[in-house]
Amino acid sequence: LLVIGLSLVFGVMAVIPIGGADMPVVISLLNSYSGLAACAAGFAVDNNILIVAGSLVGSAGIILTQIMCKAMNRSLSNVLFSGFGSGKTETTKVEGEIKPISVEDAFYVLEAASNVAIVPGYGMAVAQAQHVVKELTEMMEKNGAEVNFGIHPVAGRMPGHMNVLLAEADVPYDQLLEMDEINPRMETVDVAIVIGANDVVNPAAREIESSPIYGMPVINVDNARTVFVLKRSMASGFAGIENPLFYKENTRMLFGDAKESIGGLVREFS
Ligand code: NDP
Repeated sequence: LLVIGLSLVFGVMAVIPIGGADMPVVISLLNSYSGLAACAAGFAVDNNILIVAGSLVGSAGIILTQIMCKAMNRSLSNVLFSGFGSGKTETTKVEGEIKPISVEDAFYVLEAASNVAIVPGYGMAVAQAQHVVKELTEMMEKNGAEVNFGIHPVAGRMPGHMNVLLAEADVPYDQLLEMDEINPRMETVDVAIVIGANDVVNPAAREIESSPIYGMPVINVDNARTVFVLKRSMASGFAGIENPLFYKENTRMLFGDAKESIGGLVREFS
């Protein structure tokens, strides 16, 4: 009972200082620990299947943790022991003006675009918009545009979240570009469509040193000629911080549920 109590306290104390953008790394690490625990239990009860299955989960989890740390530009010890974000508070007030756009006007811009990048995030999962996104992609391609998807390693709420959703909608895998592949191409993109993503496209990670997410690699949608941000309100994302992207000169906000907004664009195209 004492060991159970101590492990509970240890578990809570170990993860309590970790917050914001580091959360996915910790989830993956805890996943790996669960495999190691199963493996140890396998030795205790002399069960080979438990030992093998536990080792597989443990090693897969630790490999994923390592990959995510690399993608977030941080070391594991830094994630675990630095209390990321705890001492930093946002001090910069974002300046600029919000420029909303209607579905009709967004359609005219998209109709003229020849290179489009779609960057999905957690909001696409909430809206379950992946199937209409696929429809819109096909229509833009029929219209002569090249369409690619930019996938951030921690977009959504679990590793591979966006890949799973887009695979469900039959989006071809070679259209999904990782952050490192899409970022250098961003300057040649006519329109970047951000669908329910927020933290993973936040330029504060590059520009504002006092930001809690400063240093985290993000998809540089603000380098595209025009950016459409599809979300319901001005609410912040998972990290709970302001996003200067919404106030940039080349950004237009398409407010509303992502599925309805994309559905509207599909109707305009058809
Ligand atoms: P965010 O959580 O930063 O932003 C999601 C955005 O989606 C919100 O701003 C919200 O705005 C919008 N949204 C919600 N519902 C809808 C809807 N129905 N239609 C349109 N928009 C909607 O998501 P990101 O994917 O950009 O970032 C993921 C975050 O989650 C990162 O901070 C990451 O560290 C963290 N995380 C990731 C994990 C992973 O393994 N991938 C695990 C745990 C955390 P509004 O409310 O205004 O609509």
